[in-house]
Amino acid sequence: DEDAAHVVSLIRSIPGFPKEGIIFRDFMPVLADARGLDILIRALEAALPVPADRFDLVAGLEARGFLFGPALAARLGKGFVAVRKAGKLPPQTVGESYTLEYGQATIEIETDAVAPGQRVLVVDDLIATGGTAKAAADLIEKCGGEVAGFSFVMELEGLQGTALLSDYPLSTLVTMP
Ligand code: IMP
Repeated sequence: DEDAAHVVSLIRSIPGFPKEGIIFRDFMPVLADARGLDILIRALEAALPVPADRFDLVAGLEARGFLFGPALAARLGKGFVAVRKAGKLPPQTVGESYTLEYGQATIEIETDAVAPGQRVLVVDDLIATGGTAKAAADLIEKCGGEVAGFSFVMELEGLQGTALLSDYPLSTLVTMP
């Protein structure tokens, strides 16, 4: 509809960033636009992969999951937890390492951020290979938490990132080539 078209028109595509052969999808202009931001947050709420009473917390992935995760959490009456890149959070932390196209990455949360039995909705701007999101699920489960589902703004077509998350309810607002 008109709202979806407005949001899509604001997503910027940058060929060759961060390296040759990649088209970077940038949703920052959506956030900068008053109408775009309002539509985005309401659309995420409308497209939740599970009803809001099935989770206790929203977890956002660094860095762009931090930009709309807290707004969505506040709207739903939930708390927000930051899943960060290694070394950013003070001790004690729990970490999870995962494989990137070239090399390894580690993400962390504070040890007491997710209590055993807490149900967590994980949010991020974009799913590509799904590696980051899967590592976040493993991290939450390592803490005894339960992953209730995933909400993404964008999904990159063809990478099959969502296949890695097939055990979980998942929603994405926009599929990009
Ligand atoms: P994945 O682990 O391969 O699914 O990559 C997803 C992570 O990389 C997310 O945290 C995204 O924010 C980031 N990312 C990968 N490609 C893009 C892009 O084109 N635009 C914005 N973020 C991206």
